[in-house]
Amino acid sequence: MTHAKEGAGTPRIIVIGGGITGLSAAFYALRLATHRGLAPKVTLLEGSGRLGGKVQTMRRDGFVIERGPDSFLARKRPIIDLSRELGIEDELTTLNPATKKTYILRGGKLHRIPPGLVLGVPTEWKPFVTSRLISTSGKLRAALDWVLPAKQSDADESLGGFLRRRLGDQVVDFVAEPLLSGIYAGDADRLSLMATFPQFRAAERKYRSLMIGLRRGAGATRGGASGEEHLPPHARGSAFLSFRRGLTSLIERLEDTLRAEGAVLRTDASVRTVRPGPNGGAVVTLEDGESMEADAVVVTAPPPALTRLLPDVSEAALFADMPYASVANVVLGYRRETLRVPLDGAGFVVPRTEGRFITACTWTSSKWLHTAPEGRVLIRCYVGRIGDERWRTMDDEALLAAVKRDVAELVGIDAEPEFADVTRLERSMPQYEVGHMDRVRALREALMQKAPGVFAAGAGFEGVGLPDCIQQGKQAAEQAVAFLRAARP
Ligand code: FAD
Repeated sequence: MTHAKEGAGTPRIIVIGGGITGLSAAFYALRLATHRGLAPKVTLLEGSGRLGGKVQTMRRDGFVIERGPDSFLARKRPIIDLSRELGIEDELTTLNPATKKTYILRGGKLHRIPPGLVLGVPTEWKPFVTSRLISTSGKLRAALDWVLPAKQSDADESLGGFLRRRLGDQVVDFVAEPLLSGIYAGDADRLSLMATFPQFRAAERKYRSLMIGLRRGAGATRGGASGEEHLPPHARGSAFLSFRRGLTSLIERLEDTLRAEGAVLRTDASVRTVRPGPNGGAVVTLEDGESMEADAVVVTAPPPALTRLLPDVSEAALFADMPYASVANVVLGYRRETLRVPLDGAGFVVPRTEGRFITACTWTSSKWLHTAPEGRVLIRCYVGRIGDERWRTMDDEALLAAVKRDVAELVGIDAEPEFADVTRLERSMPQYEVGHMDRVRALREALMQKAPGVFAAGAGFEGVGLPDCIQQGKQAAEQAVAFLRAARP
């Protein structure tokens, strides 16, 4: 399917940014507008030399190595729906059912995460009571959650503050924080409750006790399905999913489909400004001075870039100082016969209080069978979080040495890896600090007033997970198409 030859009445949609949000926005904008008889011209402008943004799979010698995200929550529909629409549903792959165990480091030792945790919160009393992660006084403090009254205010608060109030410091510092804040490489005491886990507040309101609320299913997240009906049979029974040739499959298929359907995808096309056009719509100007008109624009650049990108929208400055964590990944590949440890689990997370260099370690080839060829083992270590960016001053050799030291001491692997790969992701993890959702609402309202036809979406706004980004891209596309239809005579 190709769109009609561009004519005077052809609506022009420009998408800025070629990460998963921008590609999804372009895909849905083209489909929806075409479906509604608009025959649009869709152009995607990506500033770097490649599409995919944070999504980046390296395929080498039978290994499938993720340098950015490695999987997504199976219960979130938007990514499953998109996979189906792109015809790659059969490439979905599940967690290895044999490796259910995950560990948390405490006092230099790996402890199994007690069964029954929902979003880092204990919901089953017996495994929690017998776990050695928390002291008796910590467990008694957590039990107060059953009787403490619910807070009545609607105001945002920090995720850490909320959890400390309900469950006490130990559960936060040794269990919930390392599991939840890892998603953001953030500091729970600064992250916004309402922008990260609003369902915790809802559970408290409804059940008073967070533990009871989550146990009764109040942990569902936005875009989440309650059952597994949305999943193809081969992808059921796994909390997380990936693609057997890596997450880049999603990017490649989006790119191919968009090109086949007539969209223009340009790389090395960095946008400098988006300003109101003389005849309505917007004028998009690239860094090299080229400019083009659009009837609707979807911006998926990170929020701090909006101050410069949207000079006519003063509210963009609300995000000028939005913090981002910088992280690095180190992937280590081994010959199985050189290892003396079984790696019988998915890996472990490291609480801040442990003072280690790595923040988490995934036993990738145990967790995901598609990632390493027979006889090989792959592990991935995460480095850096808000408040600990030591790695940025280190060269690759020093970084690798520090990671290998932690791996030797914590996992017992002192063999030399066959290969190692370091990925540096500067300012890659947006931090939704307290009040974030108010800022998002203020920006959206200002865009409607001052830049009608311009829509903002992406990881910096309403969810960092891949399904959330796809959902935001789709929503922005729907708004852009509705705007175009309303503007037609
Ligand atoms: P990006 O991928 O950042 O894309 C934005 C694009 O816009 C970039 O390509 C950029 O070059 C371009 N751009 C910026 N400014 C301009 C401009 N002025 N002009 C033109 N182009 C511009 N999520 C999960 O669901 N599961 C995981 O396992 C997971 N793990 C992660 C691990 C790491 C290390 C990181 C960093 C993130 C992880 N995430 C994970 C989160 C997820 O990968 C990201 O939130 C998501 O990929 C972001 O997509 P995006 O399109 O919004 O932004």
